[in-house]
Amino acid sequence: MKHSHSQPIAIHWMRRDLRLQDNRALVNALKSGHPVICCFIFDRGILDLLQNKRDRRVAFIHRELYRLQAELNDYGTPLLVGYGSVADIWTQWMEDFTAASIKISEVHTARDYEPYAQERDRSMAELFRKHKVEFKGVKDSVILEKDEVLKKDGLPYTVFTPYSRKWKEALRDHDILEANSIELLAVSDNRFFESHDHWTAPEIPSLTSMGFETPSDLDVCIPSPHIDSSRLEQYAEQRDFPAVAGTSRLSLHLRFGTVSIRAAYRQGIEASEKWVMELIWRDFYQMIVYHFPHAAKDSFRPAYDRIPWSNDEEHFAAWCAGKTGYPIVDAGMRELLATGFMHNRVRMVVASFLCKHLLIDWRWGEQHFAAHLLDYDLASNVGGWQWAAGCGCDAAPYFRVFNPTAQQAKFDRQATYIQKWVPEYGTSAYPEPIVEHAVARVKAIETYKAALQKD
Ligand SMILES: Cc1cc2nc3c(=O)[nH]c(=O)nc-3n(C[C@H](O)[C@H](O)[C@H](O)COP(=O)(O)OP(=O)(O)OC[C@H]3O[C@@H](n4cnc5c(N)ncnc54)[C@H](O)[C@@H]3O)c2cc1C
Repeated sequence: MKHSHSQPIAIHWMRRDLRLQDNRALVNALKSGHPVICCFIFDRGILDLLQNKRDRRVAFIHRELYRLQAELNDYGTPLLVGYGSVADIWTQWMEDFTAASIKISEVHTARDYEPYAQERDRSMAELFRKHKVEFKGVKDSVILEKDEVLKKDGLPYTVFTPYSRKWKEALRDHDILEANSIELLAVSDNRFFESHDHWTAPEIPSLTSMGFETPSDLDVCIPSPHIDSSRLEQYAEQRDFPAVAGTSRLSLHLRFGTVSIRAAYRQGIEASEKWVMELIWRDFYQMIVYHFPHAAKDSFRPAYDRIPWSNDEEHFAAWCAGKTGYPIVDAGMRELLATGFMHNRVRMVVASFLCKHLLIDWRWGEQHFAAHLLDYDLASNVGGWQWAAGCGCDAAPYFRVFNPTAQQAKFDRQATYIQKWVPEYGTSAYPEPIVEHAVARVKAIETYKAALQKD
């Protein structure tokens, strides 16, 4: 970097908003009036915990960054990508910019409500303050956030139905309005390089340099970011049948922000109220994890942490591998391993089976999902698991134990989904059930009841 005097810059720090369209943090950076750089950090605090070095999510993000870099290039805006601990990378960047006589005036980002992200952003705010850099967050990844939907007494809701009612009352036009990031990028064309022609962004670190590889099935596993309106129109009737392509498959894109939640809402509201309700569930769980961060690790209802889980490792291994002898459970678990996705109805069935039939701690299942789901999102995953285990804020009652055979008869009557993922279904090669439903059900209810009665 050569020495030169130049005007201050603004940075858009991308995390869960990997897109240029309808991006609020980018708009705020562009509106600062300063030339803008976009940046992303491959956070070793997260990556080092991933055991699978062919993790599809890491490869997906990496690929999306190349796409963003090419798109940004058309607007003369650089993309800076780091790999390391977030604090180290920012410290390094600030030193590098200072050495190049470039002053960072402000950093804009989209708020993230998970406990790890909250903690990270608190310490980053401190670091930026020391360097006299303004650090500004904005709501972007949800429609209504943290304190926007509260009960009359000012406390957060913990039950979904009244929350959803209040959510609808609280919604204002600007919550779903498209942010004009593309327009602003177009008018700010090349400003960064005009004023900082001596600075170039280093290359995006390769996946291999970070210890990862692109899995060969990446393309087939990534669903389209296109929102299919005709699918949404039939959503209410088709959403529960795993053999039917009846849901949007947008979860990965909403997770990483490759699709804007506001765009999803705008299209969804025209087609299906039922589908919009799922987007409200998503906001609900993000709000819960923000207000009740303990629930990311512990049961939302502490009494449930007294359940004496069996935690049988052989049973857990059979569940993970899709070899429980319950076809709908096995099909779901195998779909997850093969594709990184599992249909919502089946997620509920396999989660209930683990916590109730096998009496295995919901956290074991939550971790298995976290390792494999392409759309893994802490708030929704923990929310879904605690719902199934009965220990969540607005959970299925403990005595409700899904019967996997009845679920199969209802939602996969022709066994189309099962045959796709369990080819040996119906042959002698298919395993016998590892537990008997009627016995496991009674045992689950008695174990839960005894634990919850203890005080
Ligand atoms: C045990 C369990 C674990 C789960 N883990 C996750 C997870 O890690 N990440 C995740 O995004 N979803 C999770 N879900 C919720 C749901 O299963 C997925 O969002 C859905 O299957 C994704 O498919 P889709 O995009 O086709 O959904 P659609 O049915 O088309 O729904 C549209 C969008 O609404 C949101 N959504 C739908 N259902 C829910 C829900 N119950 N809770 C919160 N948001 C919802 C998602 O963003 C989804 O993309 C979990 C559910 C359960 C029961």
